[in-house]
Amino acid sequence: MKTLFERSVKGRHCSILPACDVPVVKPAEAREKALHLPELSETDISRHYTELAKQTFGVNDGFYPLGSCTMKYNPKVNEDAAALEGFTAIHPTQKDAQGCLKLLSMMEKDLSEITGMDEFTFNPAAGAHGELTGLMLIKRYHELHGTPERNKIIVPDSAHGTNPASSSMCGFTVINIPSSEDGCVDLEELRKAVGDDTAGLMLTNPNTLGIFDKNIKAITDIVHEAGGLCYYDGANLNAIMGIARPGDMGFDCIHLNLHKSFSTPHGGGGPGSGPVGCKSFLANYLPGERITVKDGVYAWSERGSESIGKVRGFHGNFLVVVKAFTYLLTLGKEGVPEVAKNAVLNANYLKHLLEDTYDVAKPGTCMHEFVLTLENLKKETGVSAMDVAKALQDYGIHPPTMYFPLNVHEALMVEPTETESKETLDQAAAAFLDIYKTIQENPESLHETPHNSPIGRPDEVNAARHPKLRYHFDD
Ligand SMILES: *Cc1c(COP(=O)(O)O)cnc(C)c1O
Repeated sequence: MKTLFERSVKGRHCSILPACDVPVVKPAEAREKALHLPELSETDISRHYTELAKQTFGVNDGFYPLGSCTMKYNPKVNEDAAALEGFTAIHPTQKDAQGCLKLLSMMEKDLSEITGMDEFTFNPAAGAHGELTGLMLIKRYHELHGTPERNKIIVPDSAHGTNPASSSMCGFTVINIPSSEDGCVDLEELRKAVGDDTAGLMLTNPNTLGIFDKNIKAITDIVHEAGGLCYYDGANLNAIMGIARPGDMGFDCIHLNLHKSFSTPHGGGGPGSGPVGCKSFLANYLPGERITVKDGVYAWSERGSESIGKVRGFHGNFLVVVKAFTYLLTLGKEGVPEVAKNAVLNANYLKHLLEDTYDVAKPGTCMHEFVLTLENLKKETGVSAMDVAKALQDYGIHPPTMYFPLNVHEALMVEPTETESKETLDQAAAAFLDIYKTIQENPESLHETPHNSPIGRPDEVNAARHPKLRYHFDD
């Protein structure tokens, strides 16, 4: 596909401004050479962007089972609410924006109720940013309690990749512990890992294998008894929301991904929202402003000197919170657990349709997602997880998450979400089974997939290491 610059034709334009009828003055600061701007008609521009839009794939195009990303359908009413002038035509320092402050306050209450925490901040811009914020709370706690030597965070190997990254970014040393055979935290390994230098534990639950840790309370007890705090990576809350609360499981702080479980669009870099919640003993360390209500009047104030300080301006990505709040109001108290139940049901249904054909990494009931391992298939036929993921594109399905988690070889991580119908899941299963049949008949053909996409197999490493971010003109 051509870029706008390549489509440009000298002299073509689409301006409808009348000719200039005053003298043109060229200030001394004016650039010597004209800017390289593409010259196009409105038709050219419109067609260019429509062509671009057709080459992408989103939840509105088809099934998008990208594990750990919760690519659920985002109701359009959320967008309508976020576009209301009362939410968009305001300034963050406006103290009379009562409706906006009330919304944030109500959302804080709802999220506290859902997670079993006492207070929330909407400051962080996304999940990993929330992790960093939560870890900063843990760090602050140890600094203020005379235990700054506690500088190690324990991270099980089934954690999301951002967990060790955030810990190390926050200045902690990461202690990685292996899982036991059943995919849960190995309690013996955990007991061995904790000590006087333990700052805390960071747990992704359900973990990246889609398993809810059956020893969850024992895990938080072991860490607390050793003097550490417990952080819950709540990006996978879709599996448990309205049913089980991390606060009741013994966790001290958590981040949520509003741009996953709470139905606001994501992908392509944002905007997101990663609110962080904590128990009251950590609340003074939270960043951003605290929202209060007195006699029905809402206000916000800076937090005190114990706060870790802002991690972002004001209330974070406020309009993302508006979308998530709209979603919660639409669901109601009964709808929230219904989402989790259907997310788990859909994942188990699809897994059931596939498990006689493909190897499941950890057999048994899963939560919101499951992981296939194509290790044996690759040994037998040479067809990799990448080949199958690419082949799915020809069936109008977005590839599942590939080669993650790292402790599963040739992994495909599938998360259907609750917003898919039985028919879609049946069609997806049929596609997987059809691909398997092709593998048996003609494995070589799988290396050529996808056939119907504008770009098939880009050199991803090269693209990441040497990205071409600027257009180079000849002159
Ligand atoms: C997506 C995800 C994150 C990171 O969230 P971002 O918004 O992408 O930074 C962290 N943990 C888990 C389990 C996730 O699925």
